[in-house]
This record gives sequence, C-alpha cells and structure tokens, in this order.
Amino acid sequence: MSKRPILIAEDDAVSRRVLIEALEQAGHQVLVAEDGEQALKLYQQSEVSVIITDWMMPRLNGPGLCKLIRQAESENGSSPAYIILLTSMDRSEDLALGVEMGANDFIRKPFDNLELKARLCNASRIIDLQEELLKKKDEAQHLAMTDSLTGLRNRRAMLDSLHLDEDRTRRERQPLGLVMVDLDGFKAVNDSYGHAAGDQVLMSAADCLRACVRGGDYVGRWGGEEFLIALPGADIIQCAEVADRCRRLLSNQRVRLDNGFALRVTASFGATSGEGVDRPDLFQLIEQADRALYWAKEGGRDRVKIYVGSVDSGPKPL
Ligand code: GH3
Ligand code: MG
Ligand code: MG
Ligand code: MG
Repeated sequence: MSKRPILIAEDDAVSRRVLIEALEQAGHQVLVAEDGEQALKLYQQSEVSVIITDWMMPRLNGPGLCKLIRQAESENGSSPAYIILLTSMDRSEDLALGVEMGANDFIRKPFDNLELKARLCNASRIIDLQEELLKKKDEAQHLAMTDSLTGLRNRRAMLDSLHLDEDRTRRERQPLGLVMVDLDGFKAVNDSYGHAAGDQVLMSAADCLRACVRGGDYVGRWGGEEFLIALPGADIIQCAEVADRCRRLLSNQRVRLDNGFALRVTASFGATSGEGVDRPDLFQLIEQADRALYWAKEGGRDRVKIYVGSVDSGPKPL
C-alpha cells in the first residue's frame, strides 16, 4: 500500500484510541481528526489515500464528509481516496446512503481487528490499481505529445501549448514570437548517407535547438525536418536574435555519423512576432513564420529572415 498516512475521523475518545493503536500496530501512519470538519481540513492539507470515518460526529458527519471529499476530488481532478465508514447502522437504507455519499466500504462498530485488516487490504489493492492506472495514463499522454525520434514536443503538443500561450500573452498584452526552422538540403543527407544517418542529423538538430532556447520558450518538431520554436513574450528583434543564435550553433557543429563522417548541417529560419491588439491569430502567425522561412530559402539558405507585417503596410521581407 502507498506510504501515505491513513486519515481517521472519530469523535469518541475511546474508539479513537483503539483505532489509532490498531492502525499503528499494523505499521500505518495515522492522521487524527475529532470530527468531520477537522478531517476535511486535514484531507485538504495532506496527501491521504485512505480515510476511515465514523458516521455520527458533531459539526460534519461521516456521510457529509464523504460527499465533500468527492466534490473536492472532482473539482481538483485528484485521485479518489478510499473511504471506509465506521458505523453501527446496518440497515440497508443506511448502507445505500453511505455509498451514495461516496463511501467505498463499511466497518461495523465495535470493530474487529481482523476485519479492519481485511478491509484495509482491499483498500490497498484498489489504491495500488488506481495509482498504476494513473501512471499508465500519464505515460500514454506523454507519448501522445512527444516526437519519438527527437524527444521534442510533437505538432499536436505544440499547438496545445501555443493556444494557451496565445490566450495568455494576448491577455497580458505581451508579444508572441515564433521561429520556423527547416533543415537545408536534408533530402541529400538521406540520399547520400541513408535514412539512419538522416535520423541522427534530426536528433542532433533537435538537441541544438533545445540548447538554444531559454526557460519559458519551447521547441517542437513541426514536420519531417521542420521545427517550430515558440517564444512567448519575445518581440521580433528577440526572435531574430534567438533564430540567429540557433543558426550559428547548428552550422558550427558537426554531426558525427556512425560511419565516421562529420557532417555540417545548416538550416533556414523564419521569424515573426505578434504584438498589439490587432495582432494576427495563431494560424496567421504560423503562416507568417512560414513565409519568412520561404524567403530565407529563396535568399540562399543558412540564414534568418523576419516577417514584419502590419494592418496598413502588409508583409515586408527583411
Ligand atoms: P530544402 O533545403 O529546400 O529544405 O531541401 P530539403 O532537401 O531539406 O527538403 P525536401 O522537402 O526536399 O526534403 C525533406 C526530406 O526530409 C524528405 C524526407 O524524406 C526527409 N524526412 C522527413 N522526415 C524524416 C525522418 O523522420 N527521418 C529521415 N531520415 N528523413 C526524413
Ligand atoms: Mg461518533
Ligand atoms: Mg521541409
Ligand atoms: Mg528542408
């Protein structure tokens, strides 16, 4: 079972003592509340996965506590706690109400030590399964957002992050900078040295771009040999500077292939930044970066071009 403490809520001092002793003897750490309200506070302040709560308590009773905890879980998206209600009420209506309020299981009062252990064993199985599922879900989410060759964000992850940054920077009246990058003559690398060598070049270019950007900026693989750098808060001058830093680093390094060849790789860069109230939307910005990249290719490759546009003057290649 997870090493987290078990939260108990019990207003009766004697029952509380007995419960604490039983749990501590079984090797559990215990957090203790004397009523439902206190238990809710402890639940909010600490990480607990199992809660054992008495039914009848002053201020907030057991079913009420269950209900509030389930509400909090659905609001925070947190993993559900396993809640065991301690009760002397064994009418089926009471049990049904307990379940409806969110309880997972019941222990009859006065409780029997063996039964407590058995119920906790059950809790432990469910909690472990839940954690395993959550881990798998996180892994799947990470895989779905990551380019498997370079480890960079993939196009979908880039778009997700860019939409968030587009909204945030617009709200905060900050610019949003983009740099589109495309490796030069990459097809020839594949053709001359093979696809595996091409992959090595892509990985190396990705490392280089990643090394060039600062905290808050991020890089993704936009397509085959195309990368996109997002620079929230960067104006066009800053974008051009980052792009040129990347360009220089890339062209000065050599990619050592498995066959011993040291390959020089260059890329073309198109930079743009959206500023002000009338700024272009995200897809227009991406198009602007693409257009500037096209000018960089046209201009002879291994260079940075910027797209500066305004409502009045239209685009200008610089
Ligand atoms: P330019 O300077 O105009 O950009 O020329 P280029 O050769 O880089 O561009 P082109 O679009 O003609 O070729 C891109 C090549 O990238 C073709 C494609 O096979 C290759 N490619 C795309 N994805 C991958 C990949 O994951 N691995 C490898 N090895 N090659 C890839
Ligand atoms: Mg009580
Ligand atoms: Mg391309
Ligand atoms: Mg290319």
